Order: sequence, then C-alpha cells, then structure tokens
Amino acid sequence: MPPTTIPVSSRHVAVVGAGAAGLVAARELRRDGHSVVVFERGNEVGGTWVYTPHLEPDPLGLDPKRPIVHSSLYSSLRTNLPREVMGFMDFPFMIRPGEGRDPRRYPGHREVLMYLKDFAREFGVEEMVRFETEVVKVRILDSGKWNVQSKKMSCFSNENGNEDDEIYDAVVVCNGHYTEPRVAEIPGINSWPGKQTHSHNYRISEPFRDQVVIVIGSSSSAVDICRDLAAVAKEVHVASRSVADETYRKQPGYDNLWLHSMIDNARDDGTVVFRNGKVVLAGVIMHCTGYKYHFPFLDTKGIVTVDDNRLGPLYKHVFPPALAPCLSFIGIPWKIVPFLLFELQSKWVAGVLSGRITFPSQKEMMEDINSFYSMLEAAGIPKRYTHCIGESQFEYCNWLAAQCGCQGVEKWRELMNSAALVNQQLRPETYRDEWEDHDLVLEAYEDFVKHTS
Ligand code: FAD
Repeated sequence: MPPTTIPVSSRHVAVVGAGAAGLVAARELRRDGHSVVVFERGNEVGGTWVYTPHLEPDPLGLDPKRPIVHSSLYSSLRTNLPREVMGFMDFPFMIRPGEGRDPRRYPGHREVLMYLKDFAREFGVEEMVRFETEVVKVRILDSGKWNVQSKKMSCFSNENGNEDDEIYDAVVVCNGHYTEPRVAEIPGINSWPGKQTHSHNYRISEPFRDQVVIVIGSSSSAVDICRDLAAVAKEVHVASRSVADETYRKQPGYDNLWLHSMIDNARDDGTVVFRNGKVVLAGVIMHCTGYKYHFPFLDTKGIVTVDDNRLGPLYKHVFPPALAPCLSFIGIPWKIVPFLLFELQSKWVAGVLSGRITFPSQKEMMEDINSFYSMLEAAGIPKRYTHCIGESQFEYCNWLAAQCGCQGVEKWRELMNSAALVNQQLRPETYRDEWEDHDLVLEAYEDFVKHTS
C-alpha cells in the first residue's frame, strides 16, 4: 500500500490540556500553520507542575464522582532527571537568573513550573489557551470532524458554568496520566481497620508524625515519599514487588525504614503480613502504585479503549489508525524523558496533520500494532506495560525525528540520562547533589548556545 498523504493544509485543532505536552503540541501545531485552541481546566499552564496543597476528599481516588485535584506533586519534590536532560530540545532548561529561581541541577518543582511558563511566554502559547475550561465531551461526527463540548469552571470547585459546543478538524489529547490512581489489591484489606491513601494525595509528611506507615511501591515517588515520611514517622515499611520474597532489610542511614517484599495479606487486628513472613501493626498504607490512563471526555464509539492500562489500538503510541490523523495522543509512553518525547511526538502530529509528513495506510498501521502486540505477548510482557518504553525510548524518539526530518536526540543527552540512572542507583540518598558526569554537562551547555545566541 502506498503511504497515505493528505494535502498540505491548515486545520482547526483542539488541544486538551496545557501541561508540558499541550504547550509543546500547541507550539508545533501553530508552527505548522494550524489554528489552535488549547482547553485547560486549571487557571494556569503547567499541568502536573502546578503544586497545590489541596487533597481530594477520597484519599484512594476510587469515587468516580469525586472533585478532581489534578497534580500529584508533594511539597519536597525535586526532579528525578538532571535539568539538561529534562528540557525541551530547542528551549534548554538552563539555570536562569532571577528572584525565586532554583539554580540546582535537580531543581524543586517550582522551578519546573517557572520553566514551563517561560516556554509558554517565549512562544506565545498562552494566547491560545482557554483557562478554567474543561473539555467534557469529544466525539467524532459522521462528517469526520470532531465535536468538542466544554464548560467554563471555577478552579478547584468543579462548578458548572457556560457550556460551549464547537466543531474542530482534529483533536490532540494531552490530558496527563498522573491523576487517576491505581491501587494495589491486598487480600483481607476490606476488614483492615487502618487508613489507606494514594501518593496522588500525599503533600507533606507532618500528618504521619509518630505513625507506622506502609508504603507500597518502588517508583521514584515511593523512594522520595518513604524518605520524607521516615523523618517524622515512627516506622516506615516499604513493600516492593520487585524484590525477592525473603527480602527484609533496614535501609542504610535510617533506623526506622525497612524494605520488605510485597504484602501477603492484611488482617482485621490492624496487622499487615509481608511475603517475607514479617508482621507489622500499622496505621496507614500509602499506595505509591501508579496511575491509570483515563479519558472520561472521549467518545470514540469503542474504537479506542483502555484495557489493563493498554490504550489502543495506537500506532506508535500516538494515532488510533481508524481515526488518524485527526485524533492523536501526546505523552502516552512512560519510563521516559518526557518533554523531549512530547516535543518530537508533537512535531510528528503537526506535520502529519498538515500533510507535510507522509503517513502509512490504516491497514499498515494496524499490521504494525498487531506485530508489536505479538512481540510483547511472546516476551511475556503484560498489557499494562505496553507503553513502558524506557529502554527503547531514544530509538523511538529518533524514529519520530526521522519522520519529521529534524535533528534526533543529542548524544550527550542519551549518555547523561544513562549516567543519571547509574548515579541514582549508586547514591540513592544524594544523587541530586553529587554526580560525576561533569564533561557531559559542559557538552550540553556548549550545545545549548545554538538555541540561546
Ligand atoms: P500534565 O502535566 O498532567 O497536564 C495535563 C493538563 O491537562 C493539566 O493541566 C490538566 O488540568 C489538563 N486537563 C486534564 N483533563 C482536562 C479536561 N478534560 N479539560 C481541560 N483540561 C484538562 N517528569 C520529568 O521530566 N521529570 C521529573 O522529575 C518528573 N517528576 C514527576 C513527579 C511526579 C510526582 C509526577 C506525577 C510526574 C513527574 N514527571 C516528571 C512526569 C510529568 O508528569 C511530566 O513531566 C509532564 O509534566 C506531563 O505533562 P502532560 O502535559 O502530559 O500532563
């Protein structure tokens, strides 16, 4: 089949969300000549990076009707990537002078928000954003166009306001994937009398003072939160799925932080039994167990579904073949360097929509997806890891760059990302303040000159 080419054209495009993905998508779409409206539920750009002390009333996030707090940031959060790796390719995340700026290589969350605001200002993105406007329904019409229904809302109140009903040629979904909690299944948990919460609703350690807390998970958030908690809690016990069943060890440098294997069951006397046989009387279980893809506004008549956290079918994690190129998703892959990947996916979407970039036929895309799924199945990889592309992320990014005819991932960035991962393993307590890749930092700053001069 010959590649599908659509004539070079400008389209009227709706972008859902003004986080890092929505901001760079809007910039790339406009660069390609499209007219763009970005819908943002909050009252500022930045998405996840807009820290709020607010918590949702349902600490596990199980109630679908709960008022939503978008961000999952905790107060002490510093980035888990060096800023040079983390920034967009043509707008480096450099140390910027100014009051309140954080010059650290792994800055606190406020600095990331300031950087995203700098980005939005530099490229005039804010003028495309409708703030405090929630997309409540996106559906395809028989004409192939898209109906986008939105409502004006006041921040944090989920209050109903004016509703709008509009037609767009295309929709780019950038609604973020760290808001809808996923919780661990624990035998006996329904009669366990303690409190449960999810890291989505963790902000500060103080409410856990003198308590015995069990943290489930081994992601970056779990690692940070258990250390935060250990400073005030009586005991912190981490349950990890990725260690051997007999694991039980006190964490070096702490006298109240233990690593265990996974929880076996919880009992009605308040104790929790680990697979290593240890029994702990605990008051709180904190699920640091990740998030689910969630698109409550999207009606594709069953064409796109989420099954065991596989969003599909999606060609290269972006386009559902039957609705391509007029429906796309930015930022679905995980265990990645996010901003870089968002930038390249956005360039691809913008170029395909304008017809500048050729595109395979629906049949070819489905064949590609099916062979990808078969490969995952043959390797015994569960569906929920479909979008976990950590090890192949740079190959993926370079494939996107090749589609767009733009520069691929800088070698220093790839090497620095590997060095940062090694450093994090070697120095789990201090990796944000001690490192050895000084030569790569120099190389990055030399490279940044071409974007700043
Ligand atoms: P978001 O930032 O979540 O933005 C989505 C936007 O969509 C939000 O503004 C939301 O209000 C809006 N929205 C959602 N639904 C609607 C709707 N229906 N209508 C209108 N608007 C809507 N990445 C790193 O690079 N480095 C890190 O150190 C790092 N640490 C992280 C720590 C935590 C705790 C978390 C949760 C994530 C971290 N990330 C980190 C990943 C981070 O999520 C990405 O960097 C990136 O910010 C995600 O951007 P996004 O635009 O995809 O989503």
